[in-house]
Amino acid sequence: TSMTHEEKFRCELHDLEHFKLLGRGAFGKVTLVQATRTKKVFALKAQSKHTIVTKGQQEHVMNELHITSDIDHQNIVRIHCAMQDDKYLYFLLDLLPGGELWSHLLKSTQKGMGGFSEDVTKFYAASVLLAFEVLHQSLIAYRDLKPENIVLNKKGYGVLVDFGLAKEISGGQTYTFCGTPDYMAPELIRRTGHNWAVDYWGLGVFIFELTHGSAPFYAKNNQVRIRKILKGFESVKVPSTFSGGLSDLISNLFTIDQSKRLGRTQNGIYAIKNHRWFAGFDWEGLSDQ
Ligand code: ADP
Ligand code: MG
Repeated sequence: TSMTHEEKFRCELHDLEHFKLLGRGAFGKVTLVQATRTKKVFALKAQSKHTIVTKGQQEHVMNELHITSDIDHQNIVRIHCAMQDDKYLYFLLDLLPGGELWSHLLKSTQKGMGGFSEDVTKFYAASVLLAFEVLHQSLIAYRDLKPENIVLNKKGYGVLVDFGLAKEISGGQTYTFCGTPDYMAPELIRRTGHNWAVDYWGLGVFIFELTHGSAPFYAKNNQVRIRKILKGFESVKVPSTFSGGLSDLISNLFTIDQSKRLGRTQNGIYAIKNHRWFAGFDWEGLSDQ
């Protein structure tokens, strides 16, 4: 008899010692834990069952479990197993000890630099791109790119965590409204149906935010933000410090028409990898972590 995902990934570990809090998100609390017998350390993501009530919320949790357990990639967090008690659902994950990319970005903006240098941004953007490549090959949209959801592994490479909004899009389009306001693509706001092209829009926001220290469609008020996003690249003030290659890349990622957006046209993700901003970038070195 074949095992279901739930059976295959049921944790056998009951002897976990809890140490420090690693991070918090909208739903989960992630703690550093150690298995008492083997002394192996992990990250344990706990989500309160109170927050998993509607059918949609249940689907998000199941999507997260299935997607992370099916994919084996150096830039995507590995899940070992899942378990539950009365109050919580738990995912046991590989420990990523390097901290959130968000806190590294904050440090660099506090030092008075606008953000990272273009080369540093390129390094993290390339990790995200490699992760998107395997996800999109399986028709999975990630839908929650932001510096809080990239955590560094012990070598300092960026790894994508948090697959709570990731979804396999089989019919070509999906309609669930989700994501973080600053990162939302126009088609998400219009609710006209979207697919993994939202991730390329998000990549543009991510690259801009990392290099500049703040998001391109930032606004104090949500109405203003929405108006800016719907206008696309036209409403973006490109800092004069950005190289020509960088500003060309983001202008192509901020294409309002999702079918014409860079990453969705012709040779897909290769169009981004081969963009002049990435000229000379060591892709092989990144795969060899
Ligand atoms: P949520 O769905 O609530 O946003 P996340 O999966 O994003 O939960 O986890 C919340 C935070 O916990 C992350 O932003 C990150 O700081 C930290 N975190 C998540 N997974 C790991 C991990 N495997 N190793 C170390 N820290 C992690
Ligand atoms: Mg998160």
